[in-house]
Amino acid sequence: MTTPHLLSVADLGADGISEVLDVSDSFVEVSERAIPKVPALRGKTVVSLFYEDSTRTRLSFETAARRLSADVMNFSVKGSSAAKGESLRDTVQTIDAMGVDAIVVRHSSAGAPWQVASWVGASVINGGDGWHEHPTQALLDCYTIRKARGPLDGLRIAILGDIKHSRVARSNVLAFTLLGAEVTLVAPPTLMPPSLEGWPVAASYDLDDVLPKADVVYVLRLQQERQSEALLPSLREYTATYGLTRERARLLGEDALIMHPGPMNRGVEIAAEVADFPASVVTRQVANGVAVRMAVLFMLLGSEPNG
Ligand code: ASP
Repeated sequence: MTTPHLLSVADLGADGISEVLDVSDSFVEVSERAIPKVPALRGKTVVSLFYEDSTRTRLSFETAARRLSADVMNFSVKGSSAAKGESLRDTVQTIDAMGVDAIVVRHSSAGAPWQVASWVGASVINGGDGWHEHPTQALLDCYTIRKARGPLDGLRIAILGDIKHSRVARSNVLAFTLLGAEVTLVAPPTLMPPSLEGWPVAASYDLDDVLPKADVVYVLRLQQERQSEALLPSLREYTATYGLTRERARLLGEDALIMHPGPMNRGVEIAAEVADFPASVVTRQVANGVAVRMAVLFMLLGSEPNG
């Protein structure tokens, strides 16, 4: 049997996504218990191998693994032999040789988790690769929307902001559309991907036109660390035209949800107060992320003999 991995949302398909969301329900229940821990992955070891910064994803995976009673190893480039120039391949093969069961990889290069999967015997989970994909973010976003609004089929979701540099946008376009949502990308022309060919989405440059029709507005962080050229005249201008300001948020329907993957630049892509509106489910996204990652780890590792 080949080792199961979670590298892209596309690997799951609509049925696979729905299955993860269904399993997540039971782990939300576990997370709400006085002692939020089950023995499902006792004896398993999960490693987080992060070559890029992270707050939410790393802590969320580590919490998820611990709640399933797995052992957790944490690898940071800083303080490791990678900082001495050890290659990715040598690093992961060293970790794999210690007998680990899953490796959560974050890397600045698109495709790195696929390479890692080809070198090791452990299950590999993509924790974000460059501009490419962030599948567990998409799964927790689908879970959050489904819990708040029911099935995604027919929902109108606007993804707003720095689409070009966003792995979250790429995974979410796949996941939302696989589940039947109608997705509209809203961004200035310089922050749209160069081509939308093959993306089953609409695109707009007019946020005020899109907001009243949206069931969900998904705001992306302006990823200045990934912008090598000047793509915006100024931050102030960006906020004026594409920021989810207090005035703009009033254009949203009564039941519309406001989402953001974090970290937020309050006052840039989203007004500080809008991030705390009752319509904002940003902290629910984080809470659900732990249960969804428990589901992913359990589905990848839980069916083996000592699981
Ligand atoms: N935390 C998300 C990511 O790692 C979104 C972001 O950084 O803006 O892709």
